[in-house]
Amino acid sequence: MSQDEPVLLGPARVRELAAAAGVRPTKALGQNFVLDAGTVRKIVRQASVAPGETVVEVGPGLGSLTLGLLAAGADVVAVEIDPVLAALLPSTVVAQAPSLHVEPPDGEGAPVVLRDGAGRARLTVVTADALTVTALPGPAPTSLVANLPYNVAVPVLLTFLERFDSLQRGLVMVQAEVADRLAAGPGSRTYGVPSAKVAWYATARRVATVGRSVFWPVPNVDSALVRLDRREPPTTTASRQEVFAVVDAAFAQRRKMLRSALAELAGSSAAAQQALVAAGLDPGDRGERIGIEGFAALAEQLVPVAGAGAR
Ligand code: SAM
Repeated sequence: MSQDEPVLLGPARVRELAAAAGVRPTKALGQNFVLDAGTVRKIVRQASVAPGETVVEVGPGLGSLTLGLLAAGADVVAVEIDPVLAALLPSTVVAQAPSLHVEPPDGEGAPVVLRDGAGRARLTVVTADALTVTALPGPAPTSLVANLPYNVAVPVLLTFLERFDSLQRGLVMVQAEVADRLAAGPGSRTYGVPSAKVAWYATARRVATVGRSVFWPVPNVDSALVRLDRREPPTTTASRQEVFAVVDAAFAQRRKMLRSALAELAGSSAAAQQALVAAGLDPGDRGERIGIEGFAALAEQLVPVAGAGAR
C-alpha cells in the first residue's frame, strides 16, 4: 500500500470516532455502520469502481465505504442527512488519507470539498436528505455505491435512477429481503412494485449476502448486495409516470386478476379487459406475472388519446 492510500476503518477506529464525536446511531435514520474493511472491499469490487470516475454515495456515515471508494481511485460525492456525521466526515477522511486537504467552504451550508495535492476534488460532502436532492455538485456521477439506510432504501434508489440519468451502474447494500424484491423477475414470489419499477431503469442482480455481524449496531436482519446496470427503458408512447401508475394499480390488490385490479384506472372492468387484450396480455393474469415491458404496453393502451399530446 502506498503512503498516499487511504487507510480503511476497522472496528476499533469506528467506535473511537463515534465515541469522540458523541455519535449514537439512530434507528430512525437507518444508522448501522460497517466495521469490517473486508466488506467494504467486497462492495467496491462488486461495484467495478474505476479510478477517476465520479461515484455518488448516499449516507457516508462515519466514512467506512467512502474511504474504500477513495482508495479505489473514485472521486466521491457523499450525501448525508445527519449534520453531525456530515461535519465529522472531512476530518476522518483527512486522518485516514493525509494526502487530501479540506478546502474552506464557500459559505454556510455549502458542500465541503477535499482535494488532492494536484487540486482535484476527491470528496465532496453534501449535507442533505437524499430524497430531496435534485442536483449534485461537480461532474455528473456515473455510479451509485451505498450502504443504504434501510427505511428509505427503495425510494432513494428509484429517486436517484430517475433524477441522475448519468448513473450507469450501482451497487447498493440493502436488507436481504429488499435485495430479493429488487432483483426478482415476473412469476417470482418476491416480484412486486420495487422489482417492476427498478426494471424500468436497470437490470438488478443480487450478488452477495452480508451477515449482520459486520455492522455496529448489529441489525436484526441480514443484508445483501445488489448490482444495478442501467438499461434502456421499454419502448412505449406512455410516460414513465403512466407506466408506474399501472404498476401501482396492478399490485395494490395483489390477489386480484388484472381486469379487476385495473378497473378503476381504466374506468371500468370492461375497459381494463379491452386494454389488456390490446396489449397482448391475459386479463385473468395477476400483476406478479407481468414484466415491465407488459406494463408499458398496457399503459399505452390505457392512456386516453387526448392525454397523449400533453406529455
Ligand atoms: N456508509 C456508512 C457505512 O457503510 O458504514 C453508513 C451506512 S448507514 C446504513 C446509512 C447512512 O445513511 C447513515 O449515515 C444515515 O445517517 C444516512 N441517511 C439516512 N437517511 C438518509 C437520507 N434520507 N439521505 C441521506 N442520508 C441518509
